[in-house]
Amino acid sequence: MANIGYIQMVRHCNQNCGFCSNPETPFFYDLDQVRTIVADFVARDYFGVILTGGEPTLSPVLAETVAHARANGLHVRMITNGQKLADWDYCHALWKAGLQHVHVSIHSYKHKLEDFLTGTPGSLAWAEKALENLGRTDITVNINTVINRYNCDHLHETIDWFIERFPFIRHFVWNNLDPSIGRATSNNYFTARLGQIEVSLGKAMRRLHETGRSFRVERVPLCYMTEFAHCSTETRKIVKSEERIVHFLDNKGTVRQTEWGHLYAPVCDGCGLRAICGGLFDRGDAYDPKELSPVFADARPIVQRIVTDLQSDPAWRLAKFKNLATLPAAHQGRSEAGAHRAGKVQAPTGDKLVEPAIDPKRRSDPTARDWTPGVDWHPADDEDDVDPGLAVPPAPVSQVAVATHQLAIAGATLETLGRPQ
Ligand code: SF4
Repeated sequence: MANIGYIQMVRHCNQNCGFCSNPETPFFYDLDQVRTIVADFVARDYFGVILTGGEPTLSPVLAETVAHARANGLHVRMITNGQKLADWDYCHALWKAGLQHVHVSIHSYKHKLEDFLTGTPGSLAWAEKALENLGRTDITVNINTVINRYNCDHLHETIDWFIERFPFIRHFVWNNLDPSIGRATSNNYFTARLGQIEVSLGKAMRRLHETGRSFRVERVPLCYMTEFAHCSTETRKIVKSEERIVHFLDNKGTVRQTEWGHLYAPVCDGCGLRAICGGLFDRGDAYDPKELSPVFADARPIVQRIVTDLQSDPAWRLAKFKNLATLPAAHQGRSEAGAHRAGKVQAPTGDKLVEPAIDPKRRSDPTARDWTPGVDWHPADDEDDVDPGLAVPPAPVSQVAVATHQLAIAGATLETLGRPQ
């Protein structure tokens, strides 16, 4: 399968998005640690690696990591806010190191709004310059956009802006904000209702489709994107039976996810797309089963469309489908809306998947490993604790603090690599 591993190179950032899903911790990986992780991805026959953060361009070993992963046969990608790539020399160095694909996070074409969303004046101007620089290379570029209350009414206008300004960008990814993780847990005013998203997202998807561009949508139930159900990230992962390993630099440690269904409402039981729908992510207080409506459609053409798409997927050459015909039936999501509303919290079930919550009572996976904070750990460093959000930006991580907290796991095996020690 086209499995891809994630490495959070650092967890600090030069911007301060109010809905950041991976807020600052003092940890980072050094080159020896990265080599251990890359060796594991290669041994698992993974297709590629996504370098992320925090902001991965703040890692002092990013270029070496890119070169090492590329030399070991991985497709090397990065998720970035683009600020440092606005410097041509830096962009050029990563290109020469072997970087192949970049996801630039941009949430709106409106400068003032982007400043507000990123907590950083001038962030859109930097990202624009980064796109200009990337356009001078053969690095392919995607745009990542977090759907939130403030941009959900003009997603289509933002797409028009990209098409006009940066026509070479051919692929877009929307992530519907998950209010249950990161800063959004405290900054809950960023969360949009599904009904607020639907019209503009529909126009945006149609515009991309009409202009021959591709896109993916994450955390939007299929009843809100039925026409483009084959572009749902969760649906594609279910059909393709993919897995992901993410090396978090926080208490979640190393997570391997193999199931992509989340929460379902009772009405989902009568839905024709139930077997291939990711349902609702844990949308916390923003979750309401009344927002879902069953779709009376046949899932098989959608499955067929995804399978057909795979032939243009660069990872197709590595795909080894064994049970394609049975994949939708094999996906066993759960209808636990009632349980959720009664106070139980579910995480997607997966091999060694850890519920992203500090409270042990919230852990639903018995394989979750305990984690004891080190003496230097401050509760405010943890994403599940009170988050300062936009009003009071977190203090920058000093080099001394980073050195103090640096993980001492060089040479460790994956079995011992689960938690910051
Ligand atoms: S399974 Fe539920 S969430 Fe998914 S499309 Fe059907 S009604 Fe919507």
